[in-house]
Amino acid sequence: MKDKIIRIRPTELTDGLESEVRWYSRRMSAVLSRAKGAKVWDAAGAEYIDFLTGCGALNYGHNPDPLKRALLDYIEMDGIVSTLDLRTKARAEFMIGFEETILRPRKLQYKMMFPGPTGTNAVEAALKLARKVTRRTNVVAFTNAFHGVTLGSLAVTANRAKRAGAGVPLGQTTWLPYDGYFGPSVDTADLIAQMVQDPGSGIDPPAAFLLETVQGEGGGLCASAGWLRRLCKLARDIGSLVIIDDIQAGCGRTGTFFSFEDIGVEPDLVCLSKSLSGYGLALSMVLMRPEHDVWAPGEHNGTFRGQNHAFVTARAALAYWRDETFLRRLADAIETLDAWIARLVASDPSRWSARGRGLLRGVACGDGEFAARVCHEAYQAGVLVETSGAKGDVVKFLPPLNVSAEDMDDALGRLDGAFALVANDYGRGAELASGD
Ligand SMILES: *Cc1c(COP(=O)(O)O)cnc(C)c1O
Repeated sequence: MKDKIIRIRPTELTDGLESEVRWYSRRMSAVLSRAKGAKVWDAAGAEYIDFLTGCGALNYGHNPDPLKRALLDYIEMDGIVSTLDLRTKARAEFMIGFEETILRPRKLQYKMMFPGPTGTNAVEAALKLARKVTRRTNVVAFTNAFHGVTLGSLAVTANRAKRAGAGVPLGQTTWLPYDGYFGPSVDTADLIAQMVQDPGSGIDPPAAFLLETVQGEGGGLCASAGWLRRLCKLARDIGSLVIIDDIQAGCGRTGTFFSFEDIGVEPDLVCLSKSLSGYGLALSMVLMRPEHDVWAPGEHNGTFRGQNHAFVTARAALAYWRDETFLRRLADAIETLDAWIARLVASDPSRWSARGRGLLRGVACGDGEFAARVCHEAYQAGVLVETSGAKGDVVKFLPPLNVSAEDMDDALGRLDGAFALVANDYGRGAELASGD
């Protein structure tokens, strides 16, 4: 495992070769080499607990055994790998499994589309389809939204710095306030209903409302069930589609497979990607209500529309959703993390607040420097976490859904230390150091 060249001076060797655009590696210098479950090891053997998990692309942890076995078997028998959208056994077994395990028990009727393999490919396809269905061009997107960095997705991404990278005007988006944007006293659903229905508002009824139920990159802001229900009803009333971008919040991240399934809404289109393959292999999917499937054959295409290796692992991952032990462990992990965050926030509620739901959680720290320092100290202590939010002021926690109680406790203990260290430097919350 110990690669000689990589052990000498990895950053000096590669940083001059790779574009300045790299980001995460600026904060964490480790050269990672192996990973299992919630743990990763660098080339020198140092161990980290991973609460970043590829930004939610590894919901079942690193190299989960049942998925690895299925993939190894498939490779061993020379299973076909790349096939455009030709029928394959792996593709069919995934679709049938997804219908049986995920859609049917939830009484959801969706057709599946496989666009290019990344999340932004799914968002682009969904936007294109919504415009085609409604013959409208404008889309409503929400404050603090993140939907990807290709031009169509960037146009509906709120972060100013990210949008500035486009280099061309981005348009056909109306920005409206997400739930809670003006604080608890303003119900933005009222405001939105007024704006999109009043012929004097300047806003035409849009092709679609595109939103995340929990804004992963936006700092873990959540839309309430009531707000989501009102928005979906409003959309129906004015002939607009609802697209839920469940790329980060879906695939179990909030505690249920879809982030919206307990809320009683049925979006017109759903985007999935990050943890869909369950193995960190690129795979994305757009789910569409059958009446919206107005594509002409080949109208939206691409070379990598469903990789068979990803179909194999995605199908194997479905077994978790029939596994009571997995579901119980997930519920326990949610409870443990929630209690830990509640205790942390209670120690200095004037400065800290809890974000997110399920295992898409965070702590808002008031400022970006504080949050970045917590991430740095956590890294030094062997836990991988990152910031999120437009100001980078939220420390985000994305443990694997099947994290063991030991790894969870171990990570939280180290995070306690990281928060206490930085809080002490800032002259607040010194009592945190005790950890209870
Ligand atoms: C990560 C993410 C995307 C973009 O996915 P990529 O694979 O990075 O293109 C889109 N929407 C949400 C909510 C995401 O978290």
